[in-house]
Amino acid sequence: MHEQSLLNDLDHVLITAEEIDLAVTRLGKEITKEFMNLNPVFICILKGASVFFTDLMRKVDLPLTTDFMAISSYGSSTKTSGVVRILKDLDHDILGKDVLVVEDIVDSGLTLSYIKKVLFERGARSIRIATLLDKPARRKIELEVDYACFTIPNEFVVGYGLDYQEKYRNLPFVGVLHPRIYTEEE
Ligand code: 5GP
Repeated sequence: MHEQSLLNDLDHVLITAEEIDLAVTRLGKEITKEFMNLNPVFICILKGASVFFTDLMRKVDLPLTTDFMAISSYGSSTKTSGVVRILKDLDHDILGKDVLVVEDIVDSGLTLSYIKKVLFERGARSIRIATLLDKPARRKIELEVDYACFTIPNEFVVGYGLDYQEKYRNLPFVGVLHPRIYTEEE
């Protein structure tokens, strides 16, 4: 491992690139069946879901459109405050559309329950949620997660799109950040 390797900052690898690939392929097949004839809109929640989103949509063999939304939640970087703000809104109307919201991780559930409410208010016909990772033990609000590739324990993870202070998104797998990294910076 070279000096600058991101691996130096990890405690351990939680989910390998191969495991992710298998799970995303499986989910793509399931979504292909379930969204048959619906011409869905896939909405990517930036930036964390970007890697999962682009991999997942290439495993779905259906006509679909894509749109992107960026959300910010205030608060310290390893905890979610529940206060949500739209930083970048959708480019297209979703009135009457069947929507799949694609997220990196569901933690408290506050971000997605807010997004779901906003999309319903705009007249979406149906809204389903696909997440790469689910931390059900941390839920603060009831939220139906339709598709989750992996259920994980309550540890702070990075990689495959997920960041810590904008770093680590380019790791091809999901790893647990060494606590040294965020305690050093507090
Ligand atoms: P929720 O509103 O469900 O609590 O928060 C979801 C958001 O919190 C995610 O989109 C992500 O930005 C952030 N988050 C929650 N847990 C983790 C984690 O373990 N690692 C990273 N990198 N972000 C997380």
